Amino acid sequence: MPAPELSDPSLKKQLSFFCGEWRAAASGDSFPVFNPASGSQIAAVPSLSAPEVNEAVEFAADAMRAWSEVPAPRRAALLRAWFEEINRHSADLALLLTLEQGKPLAEALGEIAYGASYIEWFSEEAKRLYGEMIPAPSNDRRILVIRQPVGVCAAITPWNFPNAMITRKVAPALAAGCSIVVKPASQTPLSALALAELASRAGLPPGVLSVVTGEASTVGTALLRHPLVRKVTFTGSTETGKKILEECAKSVKKVTMELGGNAPFLVFSDADLDAAVEGLMASKFRNSGQTCVCANRVFVEECVLEPFLAKLLPAVKNLCIGNGWENGTTQGPLIDDSALRKVESLVENAKSLGASVLLGGKRASNENQFFLPTVLTNCHHDMALAKEEIFGPVAAIFSFHSEEEAIRAANASPVGLAAYFYSRDIGKIWRVAEALEVGMVGVNTGTISNAMAPFGGIKESGFGREGSKYGIEDYTNLKYICMAGISS
Ligand code: NAP
Repeated sequence: MPAPELSDPSLKKQLSFFCGEWRAAASGDSFPVFNPASGSQIAAVPSLSAPEVNEAVEFAADAMRAWSEVPAPRRAALLRAWFEEINRHSADLALLLTLEQGKPLAEALGEIAYGASYIEWFSEEAKRLYGEMIPAPSNDRRILVIRQPVGVCAAITPWNFPNAMITRKVAPALAAGCSIVVKPASQTPLSALALAELASRAGLPPGVLSVVTGEASTVGTALLRHPLVRKVTFTGSTETGKKILEECAKSVKKVTMELGGNAPFLVFSDADLDAAVEGLMASKFRNSGQTCVCANRVFVEECVLEPFLAKLLPAVKNLCIGNGWENGTTQGPLIDDSALRKVESLVENAKSLGASVLLGGKRASNENQFFLPTVLTNCHHDMALAKEEIFGPVAAIFSFHSEEEAIRAANASPVGLAAYFYSRDIGKIWRVAEALEVGMVGVNTGTISNAMAPFGGIKESGFGREGSKYGIEDYTNLKYICMAGISS
């Protein structure tokens, strides 16, 4: 079945958006965007040069001067108008997202609503960026603390959530009075460009939000090296995050790092097994397993392994691979061939070290980028999939015998983004939630992300939080003002 058309084709932009206008690269260079379900090219967007990125940053710095002086309620109203534009065009945005990223349309619609919820949330937070009065050491002084916008921000974002990973950064930056230049992932620039178009229609001033496309080594590096960029907010792999940190250190930029995960998912013997299977299906197979908070290692207490698998296998068999825009599809393709090869090699490695394949375990066919929903048992810590993000629809099942063993195994990772566990024992719930070395814990749920909550990791999963009242703080500097000479 051919992909449907956008009802507003002008949302499909094939130009970059900076200096207040839509522009091709001065060189005329562009790069292709593919539909991962079919492999066919759906667009081409500009490959900008470093001088063009520098121009975008300098224009953004000028724009920020005026934007930071716009009263907070007015900034809030403009963000709200952008939120409403997105809601009005959510069907088109979801379709565009499915076409460039592959996830099923229902999931894409969910991402658009989720992404928009950050704009709504931070439009409200814009009005609550309070300062503070601190008791002074003497009567003739007052100590004030104010929050000021950090400066021009650069956002570098991944392909797995091409909409929400952008709004989570842009909304707090704009709410705080910063301007922001976004470099979207090269596989999925169309969602970012459509967001910029809607921001412009909503009345956001030119230069406040820019989207620059092109090679990471050119565009990304130019953003990281520009002295006017005072904050870099990055979501992506830990490997790239480390390189970005090194680059940012040279000019001591403020940074937020939302990096990779390796989420443990623990099922204790006292768990509601139906709920645990439902939670695992949501956490593991959403976006075909390509999320940073995906359950990567599933630890099941040995005495309930059999009944747990008896419930899990039929649920996984029910998954349906296909084009994201077709009814009934629950599993889209992997993003590209190298992602597919990585999942294949992790499964082969696990098999060679003793894993049993209960379902799937291979590509759907040699002609496309789909991997069969897979369940592996007898997994153990020496397998590569225990140490790396699988980033594919593979449930790797491990077993354990005690709470202590489960916690030790769950924490045996250099990263710490999300973890999940199922139990109905209130004491165990507190002990395990507090012992897990991660930034986010789902207790009796496989879905934890929303705009009101602080999203982020610890260890090599990064630092900084997105969403919640904390998410705006990273876009501000604290300034302490000491007023003296008050006593007469
Ligand atoms: P990636 O390869 O690290 O790329 C992320 C972004 O960084 C892309 O825009 C990429 O550009 C750019 N980039 C790559 N090398 C760069 C460099 N040297 N300098 C500047 N920019 C550079 O990650 P990905 O494969 O797109 O995304 C998957 C990863 O993101 C997974 O590890 C996942 O766990 C993580 N993730 C984390 C969170 C979180 O909130 N913690 C959320 C979602 C995803 P190009 O596309 O042009 O190469």
